[in-house]
Amino acid sequence: MNKSNRPLTLVVDMYGCPNRCKHCWLGHFPNRIMEDGSDQFIVDCFRPYFESVTFYSWLREPDYCNDYAKRWKRDNELSVGIKPQHFELASFYRLVRDEQYVRFLKTLNVQAVQLTFFGMQEMTDKYVGRKGAFSELLTATEILIENKIAPRWQAFINAENADEVVGLLKLSKELSLKERCKKFDGDFVFFVHSGSCDGENRKLYHLRINKENIPSILVPYYNNYHSEKTEAELCVELLNDNSHFVYHNESNIVLNISNSFDVYFNFTHMTPEWKIGNLKTDSTDEIVRKILKEDIPALSLARNITVSELVELYGNISSHKIFDCFDFKAYLLNRYIEEHNK
Ligand code: SF4
Repeated sequence: MNKSNRPLTLVVDMYGCPNRCKHCWLGHFPNRIMEDGSDQFIVDCFRPYFESVTFYSWLREPDYCNDYAKRWKRDNELSVGIKPQHFELASFYRLVRDEQYVRFLKTLNVQAVQLTFFGMQEMTDKYVGRKGAFSELLTATEILIENKIAPRWQAFINAENADEVVGLLKLSKELSLKERCKKFDGDFVFFVHSGSCDGENRKLYHLRINKENIPSILVPYYNNYHSEKTEAELCVELLNDNSHFVYHNESNIVLNISNSFDVYFNFTHMTPEWKIGNLKTDSTDEIVRKILKEDIPALSLARNITVSELVELYGNISSHKIFDCFDFKAYLLNRYIEEHNK
């Protein structure tokens, strides 16, 4: 097989995550530190097939391993072609426990860091799955600002926490976060959304907020509020849509790899129907063939049912729950796949 010139990114769950967020689209997995040499083994599996391989040792919490600086260097050394980026992501767990960590972020020229809330203390602790998470997020905010890194507060909203998200917006104003960031040319951003409806968040479908129940004060902060629709509106719009909703990689291929070497596309949650194969037990030739041909059970099912049929089967024409059109189709498809495999 000739080497593919499509850039490949490997995102590996080498260390796990301290949180158990109720909205986590990946799904919850036990934390496990992968054995020494796993990183090289994984890269070596793909190097014969791809010109460019970018390696990330974290799929869930970034920099969760103790020696994060060494780890970052190693991820760069393992990457051939395109090098990893840090994006606007960091570990708030580590920010409040390790004073060296923010300095490390500065060395990478990180300008902004996203922090995720679910309202005020009670709801945030409940939804992050850890007591003290809210207070850690506030402390992390202060550490970032002291070090001239702008925090970005994202809040997940649902029918249970809408009032608390209003409280969070007020708190951001009381703390003058926008003004304080401006002093170092940083941009404090507050935004709200409902998230996708897969992984753990799929279990919160019953709590998904109705579009008309989003507090008016939050509307200017809600991502794409005016283009997002109610489930009922989307059902009407898609009822005659005879296309198929099939996830597809563009030129770049991103793979999520679990701590037990299971390989997935980063399309949606990591459940058995979406699995491509296992690097320890399956032939790498066959795994790469499936990757390039996008040949896995879930995608075969997706090619066999139209959006219109999915709406007929699983859409709720009387629901006012807010959805982005792509996320709604993904939700319907995952329902179909779950039912099909029962
Ligand atoms: S959403 Fe992120 S921080 Fe939360 S459990 Fe999932 S991976 Fe961990």
